[in-house]
Amino acid sequence: MIVTRRVVLAGSAALAAGAVLPATARRAWAVTTWKSDGLQIDSASDGHLEFPPEFAYATFPEAQRADLIAQFDLPDGVVESPLNVTLLRQGDRVILFDVGSGPDFMPTAGRLVDALAAIDVAPEDVTDVIFTHGHPDHLWGLLDEFDEPSFPDARLAMGKAEFDYWTDPATVDTIAEDQLSFAAGAMRRLQAVADRIETFADGDEVAPNVRAVGTPGHTPGHMSFAIGTPEDGLFVLGDVATTVVSVAYPQIGAGTDHDPDLAARTRAAVLARLADEGWTTLGYHLPQGGIGRIQRDGDRFTYVAGA
Ligand SMILES: [Zn+2]
Repeated sequence: MIVTRRVVLAGSAALAAGAVLPATARRAWAVTTWKSDGLQIDSASDGHLEFPPEFAYATFPEAQRADLIAQFDLPDGVVESPLNVTLLRQGDRVILFDVGSGPDFMPTAGRLVDALAAIDVAPEDVTDVIFTHGHPDHLWGLLDEFDEPSFPDARLAMGKAEFDYWTDPATVDTIAEDQLSFAAGAMRRLQAVADRIETFADGDEVAPNVRAVGTPGHTPGHMSFAIGTPEDGLFVLGDVATTVVSVAYPQIGAGTDHDPDLAARTRAAVLARLADEGWTTLGYHLPQGGIGRIQRDGDRFTYVAGA
């Protein structure tokens, strides 16, 4: 299996003018391509999120915080979280897993359409959009800055429990206060496409060669996807583990985990499966395009970038 990492610059005009692009612009076109026998998957960057350290490290146990920051060489200042959207091209199907953040979430995100253009994939080419979950950085790219569908011809699919949660009028009353905008934003976007979206369940074949794997906890109906087999396929992890710290210590989750205990149990079980079965995985927020493998040492795991 081969992994190639490419940074495609923003057009020849900028290059000819000798323009120096800011780091965020360069990253916007990063595409990592993974190939096995008969399968090609691209990790297309939607940009990145930025968090203050007190948010990014909020789930670290107080007594371990300094050690973890040193062990993983984590920054003192702004923490960047990459956004890796999985693109599967198979036969006549062009399948996106999630759609990035769109124009309204963070200024450093919402670059997916540009990243796809750099590998000659137009929005109209996308035949299927399959969601892991309904958080802003995965869903809000569904609509563009004019509130038009970003991928107008795509079939849209989301796990039923996830769709039901974000379209339930009661969710705004029960969700954590700091995630109220997540609920309102998801509701607005899902209502806009309600007549086009279909739902699926754990274990369903959501596209040829692609099986849904229920991985609840980060959100109520979070889904991962097994493409092909461990030998020659890839596992779309979504937000089951969002940092290398969460891979190493599955009990340490993300601040946005809906049900932290369930998320931790799911994380430990999925990481064990990936390591034991030998999957290549693509994590939405993991480093270097998010493509890598999970190595197991008892109940501890290590994320190894690359195939
Ligand atoms: Zn996410």
